[in-house]
Amino acid sequence: MEDATRTPNNFIEEIVAQDLQQGKHASVLTRFPPEPNGYLHIGHAKAILVDFLTAEKFGGQCNLRFDDTNPVKEDTEYVDNIMEDIHWLGCDWGDRLFFASDYFDKLYGYAEQLIQKGLAYVCELTPEQMRAYRGTLTEPGKNSPWRDRPIEESLAEFRAMRDGKYKEGERTLRAKIDMASPNLNMRDPVIYRIMHTSHHRTGDAWCIYPMYDFQHPVSDAIEGITHSICTLEYEDHRPLYDWFLQALDWPNPPHQYEFARLNLAGTVMSKRYLKKLVDDKLVSGWDDPRMPTICGLRRRGYTPQAIRDFCATIGVAKSNSTVEMPVLEHCLRESLKTTTHRRMAVLDPIELVITNYPQGQSEEVEIANNAENPELGSRKVRFSGRVYIEREDFAIVPPPKYKRLSPDKEVRLMGAYIVKCTGYETDEAGQVTRVLCEYDPQSASGQCARKVKGVLHWVDAQTAVDAQVRLYDVLIDDEAEGELEDRLNKHSLQVLEHAKVEAALSDAEPGESFQFIRMGYFCADPDGKPGAPVFNRSVGLKDTWAKQAKK
Ligand code: ATP
Ligand code: MG
Repeated sequence: MEDATRTPNNFIEEIVAQDLQQGKHASVLTRFPPEPNGYLHIGHAKAILVDFLTAEKFGGQCNLRFDDTNPVKEDTEYVDNIMEDIHWLGCDWGDRLFFASDYFDKLYGYAEQLIQKGLAYVCELTPEQMRAYRGTLTEPGKNSPWRDRPIEESLAEFRAMRDGKYKEGERTLRAKIDMASPNLNMRDPVIYRIMHTSHHRTGDAWCIYPMYDFQHPVSDAIEGITHSICTLEYEDHRPLYDWFLQALDWPNPPHQYEFARLNLAGTVMSKRYLKKLVDDKLVSGWDDPRMPTICGLRRRGYTPQAIRDFCATIGVAKSNSTVEMPVLEHCLRESLKTTTHRRMAVLDPIELVITNYPQGQSEEVEIANNAENPELGSRKVRFSGRVYIEREDFAIVPPPKYKRLSPDKEVRLMGAYIVKCTGYETDEAGQVTRVLCEYDPQSASGQCARKVKGVLHWVDAQTAVDAQVRLYDVLIDDEAEGELEDRLNKHSLQVLEHAKVEAALSDAEPGESFQFIRMGYFCADPDGKPGAPVFNRSVGLKDTWAKQAKK
């Protein structure tokens, strides 16, 4: 019977559905194979969701396997954070946690098997010689002089490599394939190299480490992976993936399928660059809210749902492309729109004094927490005749169609009264320091039918809390050329030190999100303290992508 929940949504799901239908596999088993040499980014989120959700959809499972075969760059700090991020995204590997390093013994044994079959040899070419022998895209390579050494000799040399008899670079184990292959990956690739480096899990047990191209298919096969899903840059490695499993006579071997990696405009996604930004202190850390890392997006205020919706929106295809930031931002707004409380915050305050409001009086006005979601209820906000409004909401000489406040004009203070501007004060430089108004005591919100064009958000001056607000822009200027440093957007972070927020925001919990009315979505940052909150703008309110999508 057709199961509608299993209708394929992309070419990978089509392959899986077909393989299951034809009985090629009884169930599906995928894996996500991060290298613990950095933090995960949103590109990895795409891969994670493809791996986990494909398995889930077809009733299978997904292994988490750390690809930890290069001890020079890897660390347990990364292992822990990668696990945290995957769980945060809502994916769970249960008890299926593995490390490629768990297979070092087995991998070593399979490498000896290849030698015994005459399909691998120990080579003594130096790294420079090896490069010279490799040939180019247009010229075939040359056979290594060690290629046809006796099997027994290679075996003894390989054991000597393992036993630490050689220095780094003095010997390698290579697959014996074809030095004239048009695919450079097939030109006797290195399978094992010598590295006298402690491994974060196996310590000093090994001084030889397997290469990705050998380790990956064999680890997949050991675990019984059915569909090994990766990104397009591995397409040229697939013949090698298949070659190893065939050379080892693996029954019902796994297969590799490639999809297009996610590229996002306005940022970099390579771990090498992200690490450089962190190491050179060009950002505050892996979780800087400008970073495309999962922990950075989380600190910025992204929700797992927004990232999952984004990945569903962009889909899984086979051609590379770059996705524009507004697509991601749209998904965030959608996920926050009806779930977050709306609050009033003034980012660039000027004082507004209501001169006819009784001295010493104050009252509470009731304001809905989210006009689109009555379930979120309402709150009482103190009002005392002296408030802050945004500097840009007052103009001495209003531009055409200006609906905000200017001399002799009226606006409503949201949820409170209608006020009319009667004057203003300036400093020596001509900057407005204070706006003077009179209010209409009969115009309380909800009790007065009189309508005015402009409605301004405000914060009561007596109970206001000072907040730091951080506004963000893209990290990388895609138009700029040159080194990473030259391509950084110099205006990616703007810190507002003197924002005023309503009292209820005073002790916002780090990670809590709000809509600041008219200003965007903001998330409380862990740098804040009770009474001195810090907010990151997650995203503005204007949705350029929704309009485009409608068209
Ligand atoms: P490196 O540049 O260090 O090799 P990597 O991004 O490939 O980094 P891995 O930890 O090897 O890092 O990646 C784990 C998995 O995530 C791989 O299967 C890879 O295909 C996938 N992946 C990496 N970057 C992206 C991306 N931008 N879009 C989709 N998938 C990605
Ligand atoms: Mg990689």
